[in-house]
Amino acid sequence: MGFAIRVYKFREGEVVPVDASVVREVLEPYAPYDVPDGQSVEWVRAADGSEADVHLDHGVAFDRPGPGVLDPIAEVARRTRAAVLLFGDPAAAIVTCEEDRAHLPEDLREVAVVAPSSVLTGATIQQVIRPRPEPRPRPALPPFPYHPDPVATGSVTAAAETCVCCGYDQGWICTGPVYGADVPDGRVCPYCVAFGTAAERYGAFFNEVEARRMPDDVARRIRERTPNFATWQDWDWPAHCGDGGVFLGAVGAEELRSHPQALDHLRRQCAEWGWGPETTEGFVGALDKDGGQTAYLFRCRLCDTHFAHADFT
Ligand SMILES: [Zn+2]
Ligand SMILES: [Zn+2]
Repeated sequence: MGFAIRVYKFREGEVVPVDASVVREVLEPYAPYDVPDGQSVEWVRAADGSEADVHLDHGVAFDRPGPGVLDPIAEVARRTRAAVLLFGDPAAAIVTCEEDRAHLPEDLREVAVVAPSSVLTGATIQQVIRPRPEPRPRPALPPFPYHPDPVATGSVTAAAETCVCCGYDQGWICTGPVYGADVPDGRVCPYCVAFGTAAERYGAFFNEVEARRMPDDVARRIRERTPNFATWQDWDWPAHCGDGGVFLGAVGAEELRSHPQALDHLRRQCAEWGWGPETTEGFVGALDKDGGQTAYLFRCRLCDTHFAHADFT
């Protein structure tokens, strides 16, 4: 265990020195040696025999503290009104009041726990820094050539949910609707989508496609074996260069700025609708990836062109 617990004091996000004489006063009884005058305690041993190396600079760092050392650490924090910090993943911080939390750097402020001085003991520290349960390991997702990152687009999400098709909790579930007359109620896992099991078993499908603009096997792949994504209006999965487009995600005006090709494509669609430049610019400028009028970004696998499709109202 190469971890260290640090006791640091912060004011407005910056480290300020702790009172070295108070630190010495607290730690000296735990030092298993005579601490020379004017020097700080560099080694402590608790009643249970556990030890820690101690480094004092602006704050105090306790290297590999054993369980018994947590009590003197808590005492140093109480007496100096400093924060107890554990860096690492996840980081942890304990402060004794809300006011002190406000002085922490931003990233620590969010994770900090407030334990009033009266209850800040070694046991409190133990509780806060106790290794937390590891997130459940999830299997790799199957490849979706026309929807390569369905987790990023929100179409597949981590879940402990039984798939209505295979009957297993696979750790992942598709969030979108499943179409088809014989489809049971419920959601399906991405494996039953990718391997065509849901399509075979229930005649399920997930998307409508611009069928005559792409080969049948591509159309079937997108229709039956590709997770769908939420749109405000129904429209068919678009094609480019005789192939299905690769769906990259929902975009708004801001995201489209870095895809000028896709933006131009949208403007041309607006022009085809008979919109003038002013209406068009008003429309594309108001696009929002999270709601209202949204655009959907695609890439062509053959010519690499980015293009967008929008919900028109
Ligand atoms: Zn399944
Ligand atoms: Zn193309």
